[in-house]
Amino acid sequence: MKIESYLQCVRCGKTYDIGELRYNCDCGGILDVKRDLSQVDGEFLKALWEQRWGMKRGIESSGVWRYRELILDAPDDKIVTRQEGNTRLYAAGSAGTWAGLSNLYFKHEGENPTGSFKDRGMTCGASAAKLFNAKTVACASTGNTSASMASYAAVSGMKSVIFIPEGKIAYGKLAQALAYGGITLQIEGNFDDAMTLVQQVCKELGIYLLNSINPFRIEGQKAITFEILQQLDWQVPDWFVIPGGNLGNSSAMGKALMELHELGIITKIPKIAVIQASGANPLYTMWTEHTPYQAVKNPETIATAIKIGNPVSWEKSLRAVEWSKGTVEQVTEQEIMDAKAKLDAAGIGAEPASCCSLAGAKKLADKGVIGKDETVVGILTGNILKDPDAVIGYHKDTLGDKGIRGTFANRPQQIPPTLEAVKKALGV
Ligand SMILES: *Cc1c(COP(=O)(O)O)cnc(C)c1O
Ligand SMILES: [Zn+2]
Repeated sequence: MKIESYLQCVRCGKTYDIGELRYNCDCGGILDVKRDLSQVDGEFLKALWEQRWGMKRGIESSGVWRYRELILDAPDDKIVTRQEGNTRLYAAGSAGTWAGLSNLYFKHEGENPTGSFKDRGMTCGASAAKLFNAKTVACASTGNTSASMASYAAVSGMKSVIFIPEGKIAYGKLAQALAYGGITLQIEGNFDDAMTLVQQVCKELGIYLLNSINPFRIEGQKAITFEILQQLDWQVPDWFVIPGGNLGNSSAMGKALMELHELGIITKIPKIAVIQASGANPLYTMWTEHTPYQAVKNPETIATAIKIGNPVSWEKSLRAVEWSKGTVEQVTEQEIMDAKAKLDAAGIGAEPASCCSLAGAKKLADKGVIGKDETVVGILTGNILKDPDAVIGYHKDTLGDKGIRGTFANRPQQIPPTLEAVKKALGV
């Protein structure tokens, strides 16, 4: 199926050929991949995707390329895939009870090949790199993008260069980037500084940029939404709740829903709630105070994946929230880690940033913005194993310097090696 596509600036509307290598409009705005869907039969597409569900091998067994008509027009030999996606949708269990929501679900994107949703964008971005005959790819990253990019570059024979901010990046992520062979450059500065530098480097050295400013990354990430809706037999929930850092993922969700709506595959529009950490909250400030966009100077949060003060995709994300009549909420460090303890103890588990989904859902339910019987799908963006330090710190209650208490800590106990001591510990 041939669908005409082109690039369009989200700020001024100027269009460019889809084959033109660029990440920004001449005006500085970021670009969208646009498709002419006017001649496309939504019912036909839906039937095609249903037919592909559960395929055992091949490109379309991927939870991204199953939807390839709306992902990227690329020949099979250019597609770089690790069969990403196909992640589970869980009932929230005891975490739902804690949040006061009776129909809460979690889409666990931490179950992707490198442990975060970034693989969905990366399979598409890496394939675009192949279309542009790139030999080297680069990104600035708080961790998960670099882990993903290093893997996808390695499986497809490209070199990868990673710019990480100074200070701690979660060990699970740094370990992956090194292990997959990414050239890892730790720079003196925060994520936003790294982001500025990598754009300059890519331009000067002809390296292909794989941050979410790259419009093809966003296209791949739309598949989270497609897959959730397919798992729900196309029954649209009332809310999607999603963490917001660089704001690419919420942008992708909005774009996915707009396209499905345009195709008539869905008629109801779910509300998108973007949740930011209170120490890295530029979109929240804009939304609640009706002020123009302003970056946060020194972003700070234990949820390092969203420790971003100057998100590149804020315009696209805001468009998604407005179009869906959704909202933006912020959560404190304590709220993030308490929600994480509850999500983990429910047996589901995710890294700190992901837990903004639960913390935010609970907060919006407490405020009455989300009704307690409404159907809510939270996105869990990364795996619980990514950041063991945060988990151990909470359960040993040693995060006091960050102002976080181990409210629901499950402390390890040290005992002598005797039956008596075990009995005492178990209270039997
Ligand atoms: C990248 C990432 C986010 C933030 O997503 P954005 O698209 O940057 O808003 C949240 N959680 C995890 C685990 C991530 O890796
Ligand atoms: Zn423009």
